[in-house]
Amino acid sequence: MKLHDSLVQIREPWLERVSQNLARGEGVRQVFLDQLNRFYDLLLQAVESGDPGWLNPVLTEWAEARTESELKDEDTAVSPILSQIAQQTLIVAQEELETEGSLLLVNALMPIFTYAYERSGQQETMLRVAFLSSELEDARIQLDRLDRSKSNFIAVSAHELKTPLTLIQGYATMLHDEIQDKPEGEDMRTLIQGIENGTRRLQHIVDDLIDVSLIDNQELALKFQPCWMNRLFVILEDDLAPVAEERKQSLTFHEFEGCDQMTYADPERLYQALRNVIANAIKYTPNGGDISVDGRLLSGFIEVTVKDSGIGIEPEYQEQIFEKFGRLGNPILHSSGRSKFKGGGPGLGLSISKGIMEAHGGSIWVESSGQDEVEMPGSTFHLLLPLLAEPPGDTLSNVQPLEADQ
Ligand code: ADP
Repeated sequence: MKLHDSLVQIREPWLERVSQNLARGEGVRQVFLDQLNRFYDLLLQAVESGDPGWLNPVLTEWAEARTESELKDEDTAVSPILSQIAQQTLIVAQEELETEGSLLLVNALMPIFTYAYERSGQQETMLRVAFLSSELEDARIQLDRLDRSKSNFIAVSAHELKTPLTLIQGYATMLHDEIQDKPEGEDMRTLIQGIENGTRRLQHIVDDLIDVSLIDNQELALKFQPCWMNRLFVILEDDLAPVAEERKQSLTFHEFEGCDQMTYADPERLYQALRNVIANAIKYTPNGGDISVDGRLLSGFIEVTVKDSGIGIEPEYQEQIFEKFGRLGNPILHSSGRSKFKGGGPGLGLSISKGIMEAHGGSIWVESSGQDEVEMPGSTFHLLLPLLAEPPGDTLSNVQPLEADQ
């Protein structure tokens, strides 16, 4: 018997068996029967022409009919149906045909079912990848929106805090002047000093918040002018040596090849970036520890390193600390001292240093084997600055790093 005739002969029992097996409920079975009839017509064509591609339209339709929850749960819908169809076909062929006819049919159908199985698997995977990509894109848009509202919140609160802060500072100065030469004002002087110290700290936080929002909105305007690393080191040493001394730490600034090389940069902002990193090194190193600031000349860049003998940083947090509010540990437990051991802060310093280095066309990163408050493995921060022979134009893409020997 020809293959075609065998297929025609088993059509009715095949439809009955497969629909019974795959669809529960009368309504569903009817819809399913229509689909199976179509599948069978195409199967006949595929067997006759020897081209399994005849099944493509129905396979695509079935793959695309997957619901969102099936896509989400990684359920494959078509492959289990196809394997049921293949199994039931074997049984029906055995039941309805002579052995030889049944073997012939099975031999002819197996490559077609294998093709259908592979193709629907590929298609389902592609559809799932497309579904996940669109889910990811939605999540990214949501995150962008959240980040923008966080940035707006920072910008608005920093500017709103600025006005009352200026008022308090103004009144404190007036009070200070008022009691300046009055002996009876001695007690008041201590109180006013307290207000001034508090407002100064608040001022630092507000300034940092403003810088963070400038960096977030890519509005950090750099004033490029001639700049020498060794001159910055002198100012940093004047500023921070007393703080390190208080903590009985040694703070050493080294001379290195290239530290006296002129480059165009914004010295105030560079000072700020380095100061944040060195102040952190002091903060996260115990009393008696060592902090060493060094550097080297690379091709087109100067690299400054700040190495401490402090608590160190776990590798998994070494990127997070450069994000705004990227401080580690419980935010409620911090002491907010600016130089106290592990004094903590709002977690803005390193994100500002990163923003400043990147605005210069440079970068910043940290190396540490991990955090250990007994072994004190320490951390080394690297700050990479391009060497510029002239100030860049409006955009940093104009920056052409100098060769080291220029
Ligand atoms: P903070 O105001 O908390 O100091 P930063 O942005 O300056 O904020 O630093 C973020 C976090 O990075 C800190 O809270 C601290 O956990 C970690 N960190 C920064 N510098 C060091 C360092 N030298 N050693 C160990 N941890 C550090």
